[in-house]
Amino acid sequence: MSVSRRRFLTWMGGASFATAVGRKAHAGTNKEFKGYPDSMGVLHDTTLCVGCRRCEEACNKVNDLPAPDVSFRDESVLNQERRTTAKAYTVVNKYADPDRPGGVTFRKLQCNHCKEPACASACFVKAFKKTPEGAVVYDASVCVGCRYCMVACPFNIPAYEYEKVLDPRVMKCTMCHPRILEGKIPGCVEVCPVEALTFGKREDLIRIARDRIRKYPEKYVDHIYGEYEMGGTNWLYITGTPYEEIGMREDLGTTSAPELTAGALGAVPIVVGLWPVLLTGIWAMTQRKEKISAEEKKEAVAQAVAKTEAEAEEAMAAAMEKARKDQDAAVKKEVKKALEEAKKAKEEGTDKKEEDV
Ligand code: SF4
Ligand code: SF4
Repeated sequence: MSVSRRRFLTWMGGASFATAVGRKAHAGTNKEFKGYPDSMGVLHDTTLCVGCRRCEEACNKVNDLPAPDVSFRDESVLNQERRTTAKAYTVVNKYADPDRPGGVTFRKLQCNHCKEPACASACFVKAFKKTPEGAVVYDASVCVGCRYCMVACPFNIPAYEYEKVLDPRVMKCTMCHPRILEGKIPGCVEVCPVEALTFGKREDLIRIARDRIRKYPEKYVDHIYGEYEMGGTNWLYITGTPYEEIGMREDLGTTSAPELTAGALGAVPIVVGLWPVLLTGIWAMTQRKEKISAEEKKEAVAQAVAKTEAEAEEAMAAAMEKARKDQDAAVKKEVKKALEEAKKAKEEGTDKKEEDV
């Protein structure tokens, strides 16, 4: 598939950027941090989106996610508002808008890759990191499963593998970070047939968005979502339908999560020192609970096995006892029969002798 200029703005810039940046990823907890100025992002223009769900399908393929319950070709799922799950890093929703052609607006949602992520801010083991490329990535190997990131995310994005018994993970869009490092574009952007998604440097995307709004003021709401929300995000939106009507929060403000947290905690200095201790304590309690629960399960299984074995032994002993009794009865019967026959034979012998006499 050819990559058009619009689909992948400054593609070469992005490719060289991926290899040239040598800075370490940011854990998102420093309130002075203002994001990476050259980082990449995606612009979603909802006026172009046709709700085909190709982006969902591509995401599923690229990330090797399980097959969906309903086929990607089935557009009936658009009739209900969905959120991201552990099996779907991105979903497209449909919203009624009588002022739009066709009377609907489609919006794709996924992790917005905040410049200063609340998920990273809330994670005390630093499982989330803001990369210089713009993606917010997650390291399952250090995650302790406390799920504070899920509570902290203002966009309700991270999902948890609740169904997985061993090592469940937090799951969310990675902006195809491994592909970006290889100089490729995210899978969803590559596949979108109408170029509703554009990948490029965040700053350039903002310029493009402004330009479209300026040229077609009758078509667009005069606001780039993500330019400033929660300190800014690397995934940006422009739309012809008011944001609140396509399920996007307009009450978030422009202060980033780390700044908000620092302000709140700064007012109670003692809490700042206690915070890690508190979180570690909660984590330890969670671990203990899980350990106890695992031990209880093991004990229950051992008891069930022992009970089954005891019942089997009991049944076997009863069967053997019955067999022995049956055998005894049969032997007794045979003996009795033999004795009766012997007695009868003896009596018949005696009678014959008497007749002969
Ligand atoms: S949208 Fe949520 S999960 Fe994604 S970076 Fe922001 S806070 Fe983290
Ligand atoms: S592939 Fe493009 S047009 Fe289709 S649903 Fe996704 S963003 Fe919209």
